[in-house]
Amino acid sequence: MRYSHIERLSPPWRTTASWDEANRIIRALVERQASRLGYAGSLASSVYLGLEIGFGFLDELCLETCPHCPDPCCLSASPWFDYRDLVFLHLNHMDIPPRQPVSTWKATCCYIRPRGCTLDRFFRPWICTWYMCAVQTANLRNRRIGQWKEISRIFSEMKARRKEMEDEFIRVITSSRAVKMLDNEQDGE
Ligand code: SF4
Ligand code: SF4
Repeated sequence: MRYSHIERLSPPWRTTASWDEANRIIRALVERQASRLGYAGSLASSVYLGLEIGFGFLDELCLETCPHCPDPCCLSASPWFDYRDLVFLHLNHMDIPPRQPVSTWKATCCYIRPRGCTLDRFFRPWICTWYMCAVQTANLRNRRIGQWKEISRIFSEMKARRKEMEDEFIRVITSSRAVKMLDNEQDGE
């Protein structure tokens, strides 16, 4: 199948039906392969714990920089959840947000409200999790270099761990045993 430039820039699962279906499938895989997804699950929870530390820094930083921001980044951002984001949420058995934040790459995020994002930090797309604007970066670099180094280290480590989590998830669900199990279930339908 050939995709146009615009389609490549648009979020996957942008209709309610496709979003629900994608999540139904991942949820089913997590349930059926639970006994073999232990390592992927432990990576997902270690990312959660790492982020918890990073979020402490970010909450403090946002209180200083965001309340009077003249041009809030969320109003012009077009983030969306990718497969890795969904795997992270499902492996941690977290509630799934009701839909993609945007349906096209030009839309405004549906989770923004006058007082900020309505999603808890853990439930946001990864790009929203690690993004720091120029003002925030300068604030940390100029005033709290130790925190800047620590937060950079945490997010880079969590980024690598998330990739390992997704790789491990895919390895398990595409293994011949998992595929056979799915085939058997379909045959039995
Ligand atoms: S992160 Fe930066 S751009 Fe976004 S609202 Fe805060 S200060 Fe403004
Ligand atoms: S999901 Fe939340 S943090 Fe991300 S762009 Fe939307 S409102 Fe902003």
